[in-house]
Amino acid sequence: MNAPLSLILEKLAPYKARLVAVSKTKPNEAILELYEQGQRIFGENYVQELVPKQETLPSDIEWHFIGRLQSNKVKYIAPFVSLIHGVDSLSVLQEMNRYGKKNNRMIDGLLQFFIAREETKFGLEYGEAEALLSSDAYRELTHARICGVMGMATFTDDKAQVRKEFQALKQIFDDLKARFFNDRPEFIEISMGMSGDYEIALEEGATMVRIGSLLFGNRI
Ligand SMILES: *Cc1c(COP(=O)(O)O)cnc(C)c1O
Repeated sequence: MNAPLSLILEKLAPYKARLVAVSKTKPNEAILELYEQGQRIFGENYVQELVPKQETLPSDIEWHFIGRLQSNKVKYIAPFVSLIHGVDSLSVLQEMNRYGKKNNRMIDGLLQFFIAREETKFGLEYGEAEALLSSDAYRELTHARICGVMGMATFTDDKAQVRKEFQALKQIFDDLKARFFNDRPEFIEISMGMSGDYEIALEEGATMVRIGSLLFGNRI
């Protein structure tokens, strides 16, 4: 087995967390190598890269979209996507709902929160999520639903800072669960942690980690 894969799976096991293998920019052969070792969940950032991969790779792969998704691109991945990690607006949710209906399926997403100190990262503030979840438009959705939260920590060597940001996301999850999702058994996911910080994320409650470079080598 690929050494990093087995090492990561060993670290995840005590937490019962799942691994999203982030395969953006990587060729099908690299994905198949992990697939043959049993990995089934893969994460991609770009719609134009994800669609041809989904068409050519085994059909039992669970594809997660982890990048920033524009509303007008939802339709391309709606027939097959398992989870959209980066939901950050009502308009994306409404498009998920629209194309969920067209494809006769439920489309699952995670609300992405801004927890980092970097302007380049994106996501909702707590108040924006509150407004979204309290709106009539949200309540009317029948073919799109929220299954948890996602966030990216600041890219820094300061582990205490990263830990604080993950704790903040866990707090947001707990608050939203109590206030908006009490009777929703699907609201269970906390997607946080990447190659450089996934161990901290696990300690702070991640249910899914998104790992790319540690598995596939550095991207060029
Ligand atoms: C690229 C990416 C990852 C994986 O990053 P690595 O540092 O290579 O593990 C995780 N999450 C998101 C949203 C990404 O864009």
